[in-house]
Amino acid sequence: FNPIITIDGPSGAGKGTVAYRLAQALGLNLLDSGALYRIVGLLAHEAGLLDGQVADLEEKLGALTEKLDLAFRVNDDTKTVEIVIDGQVLTKDIRNETVGGYASQVAVFPKVRAALLKVQQDMGKKGVVADGRDMGTVIFPNATAKIFLTASAKARADRRVAQLQMMGKPADYEAILAEIQARDERDQNRAAAPSKPAEDALVIDSSALNADEVYAKVVEFCAQ
Ligand code: C5P
Repeated sequence: FNPIITIDGPSGAGKGTVAYRLAQALGLNLLDSGALYRIVGLLAHEAGLLDGQVADLEEKLGALTEKLDLAFRVNDDTKTVEIVIDGQVLTKDIRNETVGGYASQVAVFPKVRAALLKVQQDMGKKGVVADGRDMGTVIFPNATAKIFLTASAKARADRRVAQLQMMGKPADYEAILAEIQARDERDQNRAAAPSKPAEDALVIDSSALNADEVYAKVVEFCAQ
């Protein structure tokens, strides 16, 4: 039996932390689907496709995504999951809000989403903890357990500011809140796989919970 556990929800709600911990505890692979959209977004930006009026944009983005050879690989030395693109380990920073914005721009297109379907579903074959927006609704509709982890935009902006400060980086609360709200808006209101809880998902609002409390709720639900 290969369990599939899906954790969907907006960025900054703590999905990544829970997903990582759960995958470790259950000995399952981790699918960070957002990373796939971030890579496509970054490559699209570098190819100048996100700069404004581009003819046949969806076709071009779909073609770019289809020809990408993407894989996740565990590095046994660092114990981290590496992303391998065309045989090369990704070293560029994709975990910043600028790239998050590019990701959500490309994620509205059905052709991009379709081109990423197989690599995601293949990862489910051996069991997986999958983190994203449409894991429970589109990619793994028959998942073993589905969670939708959310938090108010303010709580998520606070966490992001704290994270940046801890890394010694500048953090502008108002700008971060605006970026989070713009990305939420686009992800929730798009026609293709809008970010929303699956009907059979447990919805957890983490605004007033710490990481341990969220994890405990998730474990309790998965054990049922
Ligand atoms: O989760 P993360 O913040 O890394 O995702 C970046 C963006 O990629 C999201 O804002 C969303 O637009 C898109 N995404 C998606 N479907 C997923 C995962 C991410 O549309 N399953």
